[in-house]
Amino acid sequence: MLIVQKYGGTSVGNTERIDAVAQRVIESKKAGHDLVVVVSAMSGETNKLLEYASYFSAMPNQREVDMLLSSGERVTSALLAIALESKGYPAVSMSGRKAGIVTDKIHTKARIEHIDTTQMKKELTAGKIVVVAGFQGITCEGDVTTLGRGGSDLSAVAVAGALKADLCEIYTDVDGVYTTDPRIEPKAKKLEKISYDEMLELASLGAKVLQSRSVEMAKKLNVNLVTRSSFNNNEGTLITKEDNIMEQPLVSGIALDKNQARVTLRGVSDKPGIAAEIFKKLASSGVNVDMIIQNVGHDGTTNLGFTVPQNELEMTKKAMNELKASSVMEYDSEIVKVSVVGVGMKSHSGVACKAFETMANEGINIEMISTSEIKISMVVHAKYGELAVRALHSAYQLDK
Ligand code: ADP
Ligand code: ASP
Ligand code: MG
Repeated sequence: MLIVQKYGGTSVGNTERIDAVAQRVIESKKAGHDLVVVVSAMSGETNKLLEYASYFSAMPNQREVDMLLSSGERVTSALLAIALESKGYPAVSMSGRKAGIVTDKIHTKARIEHIDTTQMKKELTAGKIVVVAGFQGITCEGDVTTLGRGGSDLSAVAVAGALKADLCEIYTDVDGVYTTDPRIEPKAKKLEKISYDEMLELASLGAKVLQSRSVEMAKKLNVNLVTRSSFNNNEGTLITKEDNIMEQPLVSGIALDKNQARVTLRGVSDKPGIAAEIFKKLASSGVNVDMIIQNVGHDGTTNLGFTVPQNELEMTKKAMNELKASSVMEYDSEIVKVSVVGVGMKSHSGVACKAFETMANEGINIEMISTSEIKISMVVHAKYGELAVRALHSAYQLDK
């Protein structure tokens, strides 16, 4: 079998951990598999690098940020290759460039356009273990890019897809995908299987156990994806097609997204084309807008509220100031988004009602709401985020 294994930040957090990863990789190799190993930077490293940049600028040049951030994964990929060779197993590390990962030019959240697998295949044929630096790619002009936070998951899935690997294993610091973040709710239960669509929702709504774009790609390329722990041999969670799951629960999980900020524009003139103008400006500034609320207007003006990722708030402020979008602009980072996810919701009523009741019983004010066929999201004050998760987890009996 050809297996792509990805090890996250805590799994390669120091030299001892890298040594343990090398042992695990060698076991798979001994079992007769061909291996491509994708690694993250040591945990905390990417944040540390970002902090260095922020010393100089609140909005550093994004191309330079990518040069900086990609260094973290180069370190761990080289160290793992050195560790493997020291144990008698030929290995070769590759940067995004050498691995042929070609992306668009959107720095710090680039999209993979294609992967030229020539070098990886050549080394695999020579019997080597290929170690790829995750999270990075290269533009057609040779500039280094990164794939968005948590992007090593995407590197692994994309490489697995391009090489038509039999399996893609994501090794992390929890045993798999749980009904909610086990660090917030210790009663959370590990899921044996979850559908691509539910995992995609959970991941997009803040469950960082998998990066959302990696799930999207796994679904598209039909990659067999498993998440499991690098700290034990427990079975993980299989992310698979909905058809492969016999019984779909009403609600599969609760997610918490702390990386949210709210923007409120007061006194926006209430006429056709204004919303288009505002959101076009945000899109061209590279801001990802999520929830949007517009109030019923009166006196020819209206209020417009929307959420953006916290780390895009500076860009948002700049864009709104340039546009002079309204006379009063308010920004609030003290919010979080709590979401209930489940494909079973499609065919049941009353799921949203229970979420609202649960918030009411806890005395938590819901500040914004959005729903889709398989999720309910609520914006609440940041101080209530974890309480809301635990209350919802219990209300939908996910601990049972
Ligand atoms: P890695 O560095 O291995 O990529 P991450 O920190 O990105 O790991 O993701 C793993 C973390 O995701 C876990 O430690 C856990 O706290 C968090 N997490 C959030 N939601 C969930 C969930 N539903 N199931 C499992 N883990 C979750
Ligand atoms: N090191 C990057 C990050 O912290 C990518 C990853 O870990 O997947 O976001
Ligand atoms: Mg991660």
